[in-house]
Amino acid sequence: MSDRVEAVKKLFTSKSSRVETNKGDTYYQDLFVKCEARLNEMRAQAPANRLDFSDLLEDNGIDRREFMKWASATTAMLMLPPMFTPLIADAVVMMNRAPVIWLELQDCAGNSEALLRADGPKIDEIVLDIISLEYHETLQAASGHQAEKQMEEAMELFKGKYILFVEGSIPMGMNGQYGTIGASGETFHDHLLRCAENAAAVVAVGSCATFGGIPAASPNPTGAVGVMDVVKNKPLINIPACPANPANMVGVILHYVLTGQVPELDSLLRPKFAFGYRIHDNCERRAHFDAGEYVEEWGDAGAQNNFCLYKMGCKGPMTFNNCSIVRYNEGVNWPIGVGRGCIGCSEPDFWDKYAYERPMADAKIKAPTGGVEKSVDEFGLGLLTATAIGIGIHAAASAVAGKKSGECEGESK
Ligand code: SF4
Ligand code: SF4
Repeated sequence: MSDRVEAVKKLFTSKSSRVETNKGDTYYQDLFVKCEARLNEMRAQAPANRLDFSDLLEDNGIDRREFMKWASATTAMLMLPPMFTPLIADAVVMMNRAPVIWLELQDCAGNSEALLRADGPKIDEIVLDIISLEYHETLQAASGHQAEKQMEEAMELFKGKYILFVEGSIPMGMNGQYGTIGASGETFHDHLLRCAENAAAVVAVGSCATFGGIPAASPNPTGAVGVMDVVKNKPLINIPACPANPANMVGVILHYVLTGQVPELDSLLRPKFAFGYRIHDNCERRAHFDAGEYVEEWGDAGAQNNFCLYKMGCKGPMTFNNCSIVRYNEGVNWPIGVGRGCIGCSEPDFWDKYAYERPMADAKIKAPTGGVEKSVDEFGLGLLTATAIGIGIHAAASAVAGKKSGECEGESK
């Protein structure tokens, strides 16, 4: 894990991958003072979850040095200067004072799976263990009236303080009757509004909760929409992807505990610390893209040599997410690393727009330009042009000197 932490820290602090914040020293000094005051306030509160973070670290064989490395990498991930590292370390310990209510609506539970993980918990997962998960429709032992009572009590006890995580889309068709919950047959729509009313903030997790996801794909039989189409006048954070990365869930909760505020968001309400990067910017196959070396068909010599997947339909150039840096499964690997192109799962309407194995240039749809924060849009559009140039260069080079992949095939024989 140390190697992964080092890699994440290096990437997040490198000039090429850093999202510029244009904030001066005074801003950070003021923020530091505010965060210290906030943490003192949190310290005075009784923990809602009795699990002790230090004990969990010890039980999992993680020493202080390793934890501080993680805190340093997480500080960089949250786009904060290194002086915030000790505050991040303190904030993690106090995450057992952050009550979370988790709703599951129209979904596959993939984000709950990501939250749960399989085995070998590392620091991100241990952090998720100590949050005070007051209610989770899938994970809790209680059911029926007992579960409803538990939710009512949690909402009353932590009124105005709990963070409401929402997984899954909201079916609006047939007056919401495609999705109901509890003995009263409350629709998902009404359930969500009732739970959001007294939340401090609402976090939509995964592509379904953020933008409707697969349930909203054409022809969208249930009239599925995302949380932001339903919940208004509340601080709302979108953490899209299919599933959302647990590191980004940790980042959002940690930011909230530390500052009492939602992180800086783009116009799709995604935290910039996680979605200010294009997959393509930090992709390990990028050098092959620049060199015009592409996989032309599955299993060819290009595939064997880890060439760029653009011609096989990779949507990394249009997709904003940090999974090329953070990766999945303890940072072991990620989709492009195992040889599949990105399908743009963190972008709106990804299933209809991106999830097919053809390049965007062959599609009869317009590349997305709306919604993303403006400077990022311009950057992205620049890249689309670069993509076209890359393909053009490749075609010209192939015509003059023979296909690079063909040479490669020859070499590999
Ligand atoms: S097109 Fe896809 S595989 Fe190729 S460099 Fe970009 S993100 Fe990586
Ligand atoms: S590589 Fe693309 S499709 Fe895969 S998880 Fe990341 S954003 Fe989603």
